Amino acid sequence: MMKPTVIVVHRITSSGTVNGSLCTGGFPEGCVLVVMPAEGSSRRASDPRGDSRTTCSPAVGSPRWRKACASPRSPAGTRFDEASGMSNADTVAMLAACASRGPRYTSYPPATEFTRLDSEHVTRELAQVAARGESVSLYVHVPFCKSLCWYCGCNVIVTRNPQAGTAYVDQVAAEMKMLGEAIGTAPVTEIALGGGSPNFLSPRSLRALFAALERNFSITTDARRSIELDPRTTTTPQIETLGAAGFRSLSMGVQDFSADVQDAIHRHQTKQQTRWLVDVSRAAGFDDINVDIVYGLPLQTELSFGKTLDAVIELSPDRIALFGYAHLPSKLPHQRLVERAGPVLDTRERATLLVLAIERLTGAGYLHLGLDHFAKPGSRLARAAADRRMVRTFQGYAEHKADAILGVGVSAISSTPRMHWQSHSELGAWEDAVESGRLPVARGIALDADDQARRAVIGRLMCDGEVDLGQISAAHGIDAPAYFARELATISGLGDLASYDAATRVVRATPSGRLLVRNLCMVFDRYYQVPSRAPDAQPRFSPTI
Ligand code: SF4
Repeated sequence: MMKPTVIVVHRITSSGTVNGSLCTGGFPEGCVLVVMPAEGSSRRASDPRGDSRTTCSPAVGSPRWRKACASPRSPAGTRFDEASGMSNADTVAMLAACASRGPRYTSYPPATEFTRLDSEHVTRELAQVAARGESVSLYVHVPFCKSLCWYCGCNVIVTRNPQAGTAYVDQVAAEMKMLGEAIGTAPVTEIALGGGSPNFLSPRSLRALFAALERNFSITTDARRSIELDPRTTTTPQIETLGAAGFRSLSMGVQDFSADVQDAIHRHQTKQQTRWLVDVSRAAGFDDINVDIVYGLPLQTELSFGKTLDAVIELSPDRIALFGYAHLPSKLPHQRLVERAGPVLDTRERATLLVLAIERLTGAGYLHLGLDHFAKPGSRLARAAADRRMVRTFQGYAEHKADAILGVGVSAISSTPRMHWQSHSELGAWEDAVESGRLPVARGIALDADDQARRAVIGRLMCDGEVDLGQISAAHGIDAPAYFARELATISGLGDLASYDAATRVVRATPSGRLLVRNLCMVFDRYYQVPSRAPDAQPRFSPTI
């Protein structure tokens, strides 16, 4: 018997107003389902966020936080224990006690701090990029998906109309023309396609998109090209098109292979489909494959998640991104559908699956590079981590970053050394701007000197688990140990999680602290506010584990 299709249409304005409806029944012919997360929440395809059952925690470093984090310790015994100095059970208890909610620090200041910004500001900033000849990483957002995964936290437009992709590429080309004229001959060293599902575009539309890129930008001959692909809907001609266009990196979502969990999140994807995409893309020349998995979903157990981990290891991807599910139904009403199958996991259950995954993946030979990323020894990302070249971008951890990231398409986020901004998240507003010859800028923030110094500190902590304040002093013209004296006093009080060595001027997270590195970064985040503990307060951020 056919299951009824559930359609959710909602929109969240920048002021947080939700206009929503939820209907069940057939999928009407030509129906376009629009999911628009709050402004500022554009993310990669498999980056769900949240946990409604996680309680608010006290401020990092406060007496109440330190008391909660001071858990009894048992002798270490396993591989992970050896690094952390704690048993797995103690680690789970510590993580559950210390975790709170906070930014993912894919940018600093976080996108939640963006405010209304005129396109003239961005035009002037792009002129700076051109004048300085700064290198550019181009990100093209393709918002379309053929069906909605109920956990989805991305800016997505659900439609089965292929014409939507064709028309979108024409408008993206128009936006590229404006951007290209603004940055002149600034070298483009990276191209990334994300969504949504970039493979919503036909091979013909993909070729039209690539032609527009070549027409409008000075792309270096060795520019790295990457793409997010959905194994359920990608075709061989698309892979051949991408391979011929020089794409070598790809990221695909798996989330969980358990049939029950897949029912719960309305994402049905077999191991065979996934294996097929790995094999066919390797044959087409892809040498860097990432698989996303998610913990914290309803019905996940240690046994079921362990099987998913084993299946992913069998696929032998170069990289694995392990995300904690962010359940934020107050911002994303469609996520309530996930709750039909059962409650999302609580903090302790999440911590249990996180530690299980670290054990299983490192046991299989993967290196744990940072917060939520694992890579094979010798892979591009592992080499970058070893050389301290890994960076944190809107797409998570990456090998290296150009001076500026310029986003193209609806809801795309851009970042230069001096400014962040985001395009309109509503397709209509984005189209109107592009059609009238204006850059489709909605919001953003100009970084002052303090932002730039804190951004550097947080970036190194997120990527390396440590930061050399001597280097920060030299790069930003400040006496960093004095400038951050208050923050260092807090760090010094964190004992088991981080330390500051005044002789070497290095702040360093412990192995346990690296799992809570977002909490450590909050110490240096001047915008961070301790979440309200009011019973009806809605979370702004995802759990830190
Ligand atoms: S494939 Fe699913 S999770 Fe990914 S963007 Fe589309 S709806 Fe969201």
